[in-house]
Amino acid sequence: MNFRNFPMVPRVIYGRGSFDDLHEIIAPKRKGDAPFIFFVDEVFATRDNLIRRIPLQGNDKIIFINTTDEPKTKQVDALRDALKAEFGGVSGIIGIGGGSIMDTAKAVGLMMTNEGSSAQYQGWDLIKTQGVYRVGIPTLSGTGAEVSRTAVLTGPEKKLGLNSDYTTFDQVVLDPSLTKDAPNDQRFFTGMDCYIHCIESLNGTYLNAFSKSYGEKSEEMCEQVFLRKNVWDDESDEALMMASWHGGMSIAYSQVGVAHAVSYGLAFVLGTHHGIGNSIVFNYLEEYYPSGVEKFHEMVRKWHIDLPKGICAHCTDEQFNTMINVSLGMAPLWENALGKNWRNSMTPEKLRALYERM
Ligand code: NAD
Ligand code: ZN
Repeated sequence: MNFRNFPMVPRVIYGRGSFDDLHEIIAPKRKGDAPFIFFVDEVFATRDNLIRRIPLQGNDKIIFINTTDEPKTKQVDALRDALKAEFGGVSGIIGIGGGSIMDTAKAVGLMMTNEGSSAQYQGWDLIKTQGVYRVGIPTLSGTGAEVSRTAVLTGPEKKLGLNSDYTTFDQVVLDPSLTKDAPNDQRFFTGMDCYIHCIESLNGTYLNAFSKSYGEKSEEMCEQVFLRKNVWDDESDEALMMASWHGGMSIAYSQVGVAHAVSYGLAFVLGTHHGIGNSIVFNYLEEYYPSGVEKFHEMVRKWHIDLPKGICAHCTDEQFNTMINVSLGMAPLWENALGKNWRNSMTPEKLRALYERM
């Protein structure tokens, strides 16, 4: 095949309060006594207004997941093993949280039917068997994990997604009221992930009309909420939720670029989280994305964001080399950003100098 024939989420429900339709949505998917498992970000454990609305029935179970660290292959394997030991099989897995929880739900759902460790499937199209039924319910907007065909995991050797046609959710519930209480900083960083997806897609060599149509709309909505509005309101939650979706659609048919390639190095060596890592890197990318970076600086000022500085100040040569290797290993991202001859312009020395600025 000459063109990418990529899967989309087959069903999506949108609307303030749509979370309460979950019981009706999942009822036909129930397989006898096999439970639905709800992976919920631990931050909601004490928020009864969400927890009591989770439609538990029979053996259904809520598992609270701590997201201090982004999801790891060994955590996904352990969750899968525990579910198999307790229940044998499940009717489905429902992830309620930001990108970390959504990726965990996607990955565990796949690993219920794929043998071995999830680390074996980090890469492209290595998953060959349909997973169990999976629902994604974002409580933070920006990553596009709700719509993408990947579940990003940190493994023993690399941070890389389970990219496959089987990875996309079977159902997504977009309820903007769920993002309402996200902390200002976190909302900003995850929102910037979306903004950066758009800038990298729209300024990449892989750009095409399909990606452009989604990227432009998403960028416009990001600017609406982070540049033109002075307060965060319901309309902001709604716009950013749809910006995230469109941003994800935009990169589905193009690629991300320099900020993501560089930030993967930070994540692998320093454990820097995705949204904040992208923001730290993007802050210094005026050479590659001049107008996007200028607007980004304006957004940082407007929302009083304290961007961490000096995070590489104490890195050893070995750490710098690992970051550089991880980053330069992301060939498609560099090719999208700088063209086929990217290795001529992005050398290890240049990348080291960039890391040293952070
Ligand atoms: P996250 O899921 O890691 O959550 C960040 C923090 O926000 C956590 O402390 C969490 O407890 C908190 N939080 C989430 N929702 C909240 C709410 N409504 N109220 C209060 N606190 C809330 O953050 P993220 O930026 O959404 O996701 C990052 C992850 O997504 C990374 O692991 C990254 O690799 C992954 N990612 C995946 C894709 C994909 O296509 N699959 C794309 C981009 C990023
Ligand atoms: Zn991203």
